[in-house]
Amino acid sequence: MSYQILNGQLVSQEIKQFIKDQVFQQVAEGKKRPHLAALIVGDDGASHTYVNAKVKDCEAMGFSSTLRQLPASCTEEEVLAIIEEFNHDDDIDGFIVQLPLPDHISVQKVTDAIAPEKDVDGFHPVNIGKMSKNLPSYVSATPLGILKLLEAYKIPTKGRHVVVVGRSHIVGSPMSILMGRNDYPGNATVTLTHRHTQNLASFTSQADILIVAVGIPSFITSDMVKDGATVIDVGITRVPDETKKSGFRLVGDVDFNSVAPKCAFITPVPGGVGPMTRAGLMYNTWLASQGNIFAQRVDNTFLNT
Ligand code: NAD
Repeated sequence: MSYQILNGQLVSQEIKQFIKDQVFQQVAEGKKRPHLAALIVGDDGASHTYVNAKVKDCEAMGFSSTLRQLPASCTEEEVLAIIEEFNHDDDIDGFIVQLPLPDHISVQKVTDAIAPEKDVDGFHPVNIGKMSKNLPSYVSATPLGILKLLEAYKIPTKGRHVVVVGRSHIVGSPMSILMGRNDYPGNATVTLTHRHTQNLASFTSQADILIVAVGIPSFITSDMVKDGATVIDVGITRVPDETKKSGFRLVGDVDFNSVAPKCAFITPVPGGVGPMTRAGLMYNTWLASQGNIFAQRVDNTFLNT
């Protein structure tokens, strides 16, 4: 079977161009630039790479950005104090606290302290609750990026069987909610699987759309995938590779070479969900700069469950 690549690099460029054009216009009209702030705690290499990329994306979009750093030895109070400062800084439209945090700092306390209207990562319970009810809210960057990718390739979702593997709060769980919402992409029949699922392949092999966020390289093999499926590989694992300047290469959760020939559509790693996630955060920050997201016009499709 010949498959089509879901090119996240290309679609993310289009989204970023849209945002850039909007910012150019709003600045020309004398309005302020969108402003994203980020707090990073400790010196995890991958986290610094991600945050630096976000700052670079801000520059490319014409956004202002603020980057604050705290050492891994800092206290929870110091983290919460910076969040309070960001919450009350009128110039900052949205901000993120890069995860993971050192063990002595509660992710839940930190997430809950962020003002929901500035929570462009969409991790606050208010955003997750509103997202579940299909009310205006921030949808976290990776699920948002996946929705935009499905939309860009006009992948039908209504009545289809979506199987999600992995139930993290940042990817798998919101993805399962989004695909079941009365919307497009959505209106799917959804199965959410996780580490305690028995006979995983019996579910994945029924999927019209398979979304995998597990973090185990080449976890999904061709015998687990139905002919003609759409496969979204969220996984990113750094595997040592001496041939690369960085010393590693990125590997997905799907064994691409064996699975792709069975697919109608599939995302590559890298170049699939990763760039869409980056665009998702920029999109949310731009939305934040358009005024309080919760005050936007309420669409009542959620009433029609
Ligand atoms: P996580 O690491 O928090 O959790 C992994 C999930 O996989 C859990 O819900 C667990 O129940 C499930 N799981 C583990 N073993 C399993 C098994 N044998 N069968 C079925 N399910 C199993 O998840 P995460 O934070 O969503 O990250 C998953 C992967 O996605 C990682 O590689 C991460 O780096 C990557 N990721 C990529 C992006 C991106 O932008 N592309 C964004 C976020 C995460």
